[in-house]
Amino acid sequence: MPQPDDDRTAPEGALPGLCPPSDLNPRRETPLDFPDSEFGELSADDYRVLGFMSGLEVHQQLRTAGKLFCRCPAGRRTTKVDGEVLRHMRPTLSELGEYDGCALMEFKTRKEIVYQLERGSVCTYEMDDTPPFPVDPEAVRVALEVALLFNLKLVSELHVMRKQYLDGSIPTGFQRTAMVGLAGAIPFRVPELGVDRELRIRQLSLEEDSCREVSDIGHRIVFRTDRLGTPLTETVTEPDLFTPFEVQAAGRLIAATVASTGKIARGAGAARQDTNVSIAGSRRIELKGVPSHRLLPRLVHVEAFRQLNLLKIRAELEKRGVTKAQLQVADKVLPWQGSPLVLEASSQLRHCDYAPVRDAIDRKETIAAVRLPQFGGLLHRRTQPGITFAREFADRLRVIACLTGRPFMIHSDVKDYGLDRAEWRQLRAALRAEQWDAILVCWGPRDDVATAVREIFLRAQDALVGVPAETRQAYADGTNGFERILPGADRMYPDTDTPPVPIADAVVAELRAGLAERPWERSGRYMQAGLDERSARWLARAPWAGLFDALEPRSPAVARRVASALEKRLPFHARTSGRPLPPPHRVRPLVEALEAGTLRSEAFESALDALLEDPGLPPDVVLAELRPSASEDPAALDVAVRRTVEESSELAGRPLPTVLRWAMGRVMPDLLGHVDPRLVQARLEEALAAVHGPAGGAL
Ligand SMILES: [Zn+2]
Repeated sequence: MPQPDDDRTAPEGALPGLCPPSDLNPRRETPLDFPDSEFGELSADDYRVLGFMSGLEVHQQLRTAGKLFCRCPAGRRTTKVDGEVLRHMRPTLSELGEYDGCALMEFKTRKEIVYQLERGSVCTYEMDDTPPFPVDPEAVRVALEVALLFNLKLVSELHVMRKQYLDGSIPTGFQRTAMVGLAGAIPFRVPELGVDRELRIRQLSLEEDSCREVSDIGHRIVFRTDRLGTPLTETVTEPDLFTPFEVQAAGRLIAATVASTGKIARGAGAARQDTNVSIAGSRRIELKGVPSHRLLPRLVHVEAFRQLNLLKIRAELEKRGVTKAQLQVADKVLPWQGSPLVLEASSQLRHCDYAPVRDAIDRKETIAAVRLPQFGGLLHRRTQPGITFAREFADRLRVIACLTGRPFMIHSDVKDYGLDRAEWRQLRAALRAEQWDAILVCWGPRDDVATAVREIFLRAQDALVGVPAETRQAYADGTNGFERILPGADRMYPDTDTPPVPIADAVVAELRAGLAERPWERSGRYMQAGLDERSARWLARAPWAGLFDALEPRSPAVARRVASALEKRLPFHARTSGRPLPPPHRVRPLVEALEAGTLRSEAFESALDALLEDPGLPPDVVLAELRPSASEDPAALDVAVRRTVEESSELAGRPLPTVLRWAMGRVMPDLLGHVDPRLVQARLEEALAAVHGPAGGAL
């Protein structure tokens, strides 16, 4: 029976069993001379040279009344705690008689897992004390509808599977999931990116959501269970995205497509995506928990270059002749007792005045110094913006060895900070380090430091692979950090608790007949109505698309004016007033007035603003105030022009167009809706030219 630490003693190079070949980028030669580049510096061609490939996994909570496999309410968010359950994770043999690498990693962390329960949102099913109830039929219908929207081939029966979930966020250790459809495609058209092709959708699953994490400190992780079991769809694309902005556009397209069912949950955490990235010569790395589409391009760019930088480091190690055999440490004893590469350094550092080490000594903790042969100068190499290769080690120590209280590690590439020269010299001598060797020092409780030292060697061995198979967590600044080593390939197995659920042809036919309009169909319709492609696409995904439809603009000019005003004004008003969209019956009179010519086009936005600012204001009153009437007070324009020309003397010497812009800004607000702006401009231009001269009086 393998010991917990034997999980990654795979032969040199790949990690068989942990990563199927499809995880490798189809191009095997890395362009190692490609310079490290900031986000925003590269063209689509540059990404092609890099072999950049990316795909998405989009999770969307459904707005159903109940959870997927029990009758608890879905979508209930609470901070109340009625009780707590404590669990420990232990690895068990899989049905194939093997340990899963991911399970072993979680076991190594020796975590205490706490579930906070609230009576109204959780029952014994979520805590694995009762078998699942029949799958929620409403959720199945929505999932089928989404699958149809993506043109997927539907399954004839839902087969519930168990997907291993070992981070503790699901108490059973697995997630129940059922594939609903597979192998589809949707039109992917983004003219500003030069994209006009299909986006292949690999599959859509209906699954239960995991717990919300409350905190994860040291050896204790706390989860809240209200979200656990909420139905969600998981949409997986093929890696068909070849630039960072394509990833973003695809994310938006998928979200909009799922949303067109009108049956999805909104708000924090309701939609989450993972993205995978690889470059030539690398393997697919999954970035988990991307919070927003806005962040996607930077995240995937940064990950592409992390991979490139790791592959450059591998090339350098190869050049230096480093082998895996040089990076081994004894397994059965404390690492500093059985290896010339590791030293318990408390005595060398007993006079150290670097505060973190000093504190560790005072706390009687263990301080280990590790020699990495030929790694000198590499730990300081940049892998991500503001992040060096050393972070790859520090992340593993934090996550797997649970070292906390940063900093818990320092290395010899750092100069003039931390340990002084004499201390480094002593450590080098004690470890018999040569010129190009690097020294890593870490400190903490003894058992954690023992795990940490083993982890340092495992990560150093991974440096010879280049890009280790792991999942990584997306951060809000666009960088990412180690989350866990990749789960085993065989992490899905049938759920014996749930019988297959047949999908009736009649249900599919009914759903197909009433299928929601898809974003690309919607934007096609808006282009027919007179909008340009960008506005049409934007409107098709906007929350006010329904409002626009209800306003029924008839002429293309009115449609354009209304779409543009809604896009400009509604987000602003929603932000400042917090009020929902106005009901269509209030805005419709303005649109009708536009069509009839009784509201001037340029006055529409002001009219809309007036309605949005005061929900009680009758549209008639707004329209009366802005009614066009050239004859109402013919002198008003004359007066305004004369007064403005007089005031314009302060602008003497400025170019005429500048003065004219200023003058329009003075005159128009009072005349808006009443007088054609072209007439005002003509009158002002004539009068100003007489005073300021046609050349603008620049002389
Ligand atoms: Zn329940």
